[in-house]
Amino acid sequence: MEFDIIVVGAGPAGSSAAITAAKGGAKVLLLERGPEPGSKNVSGAMIRLEDVQSAFDISSIPIERKVKNVKLLFLSDSNKTNISVNVQSGLANVTRLKLDKWMAQQAEKAGALLITKTAALGLERDSDGKYKVITDRGSVKADRIVLAEGVNALISISSGIRPDLKPDQAVQAVKEVYSLNKDEINKRFGFKADDEGESWRILGVDPVPYAGFLYTYKDAIAIGVGIPLTILIRRKMSPYTVLDEVKERIGFNELVKGSSLREYSAKVIPEHGFPSFRACVDKVYVAGDALGLVDPLTFNGIGPAISSGVIAGKAALESYECRRYESELMRSKEIRNVVNGRPLVKELIEEENFKYYVRTINELLHSWVYGDVSKVRLDMPRIFKHLLLGMGVLKS
Ligand SMILES: Cc1cc2nc3c(=O)[nH]c(=O)nc-3n(C[C@H](O)[C@H](O)[C@H](O)COP(=O)(O)OP(=O)(O)OC[C@H]3O[C@@H](n4cnc5c(N)ncnc54)[C@H](O)[C@@H]3O)c2cc1C
Repeated sequence: MEFDIIVVGAGPAGSSAAITAAKGGAKVLLLERGPEPGSKNVSGAMIRLEDVQSAFDISSIPIERKVKNVKLLFLSDSNKTNISVNVQSGLANVTRLKLDKWMAQQAEKAGALLITKTAALGLERDSDGKYKVITDRGSVKADRIVLAEGVNALISISSGIRPDLKPDQAVQAVKEVYSLNKDEINKRFGFKADDEGESWRILGVDPVPYAGFLYTYKDAIAIGVGIPLTILIRRKMSPYTVLDEVKERIGFNELVKGSSLREYSAKVIPEHGFPSFRACVDKVYVAGDALGLVDPLTFNGIGPAISSGVIAGKAALESYECRRYESELMRSKEIRNVVNGRPLVKELIEEENFKYYVRTINELLHSWVYGDVSKVRLDMPRIFKHLLLGMGVLKS
């Protein structure tokens, strides 16, 4: 079979590329190894509707709950701070199975052909200049390719477009989902309506530095943590040990009393990538997590995946040169934010810096409540350096 464009991976990046290219009139094949889009996915998730709207018609988007409140928890050795941020609109909790399926269906409606249960195994170039995608069910040909295979980017790596991630460039995440009756969720979280929801961001230092999350679905609660891979290796520690500690610390078992564990999963989150990684070789365009486009500061990976997917779809449609594809990526504000934020992220996930900030935020807020901040010692050179990095004045 021959296509104009083959997109590998029906996650947010792949479906965004497929819908963009199909709307432009190309004959598009969207390949997914899972039984359905989203079935192989591990993510929270909280999304920004505006991000999704840039590629999809969101009038029928399958959200679980509208996020009305984002809770920030700072857990240091003895202190705990809990800050609530009221959200006006635009944030939602979703399950990936429903969201990814819906995105792929929109790409299909635009004319793309979705084939599931099919894993791409390799990429070859024929003598006629066309690409051949070798799959576990035969091979398919196309002029142009979009690789949106997620963090485990086997084709992008085996084709020599980008290197593999090193341990200090990745975070190991684990997640559990607990089924609970919707009325119980409403009662326990104090929700006034069935579509009201909450997201938690948890930053803690014990037993190792971690960033955690909690999301509310219609009839379930998801909880998870991400820990820098180097710390886990150094401490010979399992990420589930850390998750158990977080659950204990925040009283999670009480919150989900009477529920049952529906699923548990683990996945790596990239903290490094484009522009250190190339994004393209002759008419093969890489997008999303495969390019390392996650913003760990705002826990946002789906937004940059969609932005880069749209750009990859346009690039494939119009056969961009690689340099043009890479400069179009850098023109996207969302992708620039990821790239420009990396030097600060690299500093903040250093164990000493992470511990310092979580402890100092706690100490400052607790001392302020008790009316005496005079004993809090601020490490001004460290704070100043990170402020300058965050503002982009200092590069690394
Ligand atoms: C625990 C956790 C929580 C997260 N929470 C959030 C959050 O709340 N908000 C947020 O914005 N981001 C979150 N993220 C990040 C977000 O999930 C990713 O950044 C996003 O999914 C990247 O999209 P993608 O399309 O690039 O890759 P993916 O979503 O990984 O999609 C890749 C797709 O390609 C398919 N595939 C891979 N290889 C092949 C192959 N060879 N052949 C065929 N198909 C293939 C996979 O099955 C998959 O469907 C979280 C991540 C984790 C791990």
